[in-house]
Amino acid sequence: MGTDSRMQPLRPGDRGPAVADVHAALRTLGLLLADGDDALGQAVYDAATELAVRHFQQVRGLSVDGRVGEETYRALSEARWKLGDRLLHHDPERPTRGDDVTSLQERLHELGYDAGPVDGVFGPETEVGLRAFQRDYGLTADGTCGPATLRALRQLGRKVTGGRPQLLRQSAHFVESGPHLIGRRIVVDPGHGGPDPGFTAGETTEADLVLDLAYRIEGRLAAAGATVYLTRGRYQAPTPTERTAFANDAHADLFLSLHLDAHGSEHARGVASYYYGTGSGASSTVGEQFAGLVRREMVARTGMLDLGSHAKTWDLLRATRMPAVRLDCGYLSHPVDRLLLLDARLRSTVASAVLAAVQRLFLPAEADPPTGTFVLPRAR
Ligand SMILES: [Zn+2]
Repeated sequence: MGTDSRMQPLRPGDRGPAVADVHAALRTLGLLLADGDDALGQAVYDAATELAVRHFQQVRGLSVDGRVGEETYRALSEARWKLGDRLLHHDPERPTRGDDVTSLQERLHELGYDAGPVDGVFGPETEVGLRAFQRDYGLTADGTCGPATLRALRQLGRKVTGGRPQLLRQSAHFVESGPHLIGRRIVVDPGHGGPDPGFTAGETTEADLVLDLAYRIEGRLAAAGATVYLTRGRYQAPTPTERTAFANDAHADLFLSLHLDAHGSEHARGVASYYYGTGSGASSTVGEQFAGLVRREMVARTGMLDLGSHAKTWDLLRATRMPAVRLDCGYLSHPVDRLLLLDARLRSTVASAVLAAVQRLFLPAEADPPTGTFVLPRAR
């Protein structure tokens, strides 16, 4: 797995000002009691800290490891902001991030305004949505969420109930765009690469295997009429930000990231998929749907263990502007999974599974064949 974190994570046993920062954030969230040692400059990452961090990670849909790496650190600082704590506006240089931005975006969507993705980042689309709201309600349309705008947002009843209009719009767009893959742009993202091999098993690396899978998937999808882009070749190792920016610049309709797993326990095995979501509230319905489709097709065709689909707030899933899914195609550390993955026929089967899942995503429901059976007629 691995979320490509670059900062040295804080972990049990660590001490110092950075730990005191984490304690302060956890206390603000009500997850940790006051600690006298912090005031004396003796903050220690103890068992209580680890427990609180694990709880926070669980609730936020982050990888639960009890440590504070880059993603958890940022999520902690973002979670401190409640709507009304500060003025919110679009700053192209340093976009404002935080739970207050998420609340604003959700509120605008509830009121029927398109404010772009509910991602906790105040971007240009948030500004457009906010200005439209301000104009309609006779406020100064300055794109800044200050006291008057806040009051209006709070006083208004909900125009739309029982739904997440932005997500419904995303689904509607998919239905409208028809059953075939011609004109579809799909970005396939083989994890790791270049100097970063990912997990290794003897001479075989995760980076090489997922690249091979990506080439096979590219071939299948291209034969079905889709336009496919890979985020890297053999010798590059783009950062997560570069990968998501690439998909955004390509105006992709779908983003699929490929990884393998490994675990200290030789019993760990199977296939899992991940989509953007917090486990409660905002999630990508299309992402969730595709995460289920691709995992079930793969499990049905390979007989590998089904480890389910899971909502995550990883940057890779959050910063992509199209439905994004990460597929973990098995454990290199498991003897059977490894044998399967080393077999080129199995990797072709995985490519077929991805093609079937993509087709099912774009096909109307009534034309949807049972899992594991759909085979595309050969492209001419
Ligand atoms: Zn990986």
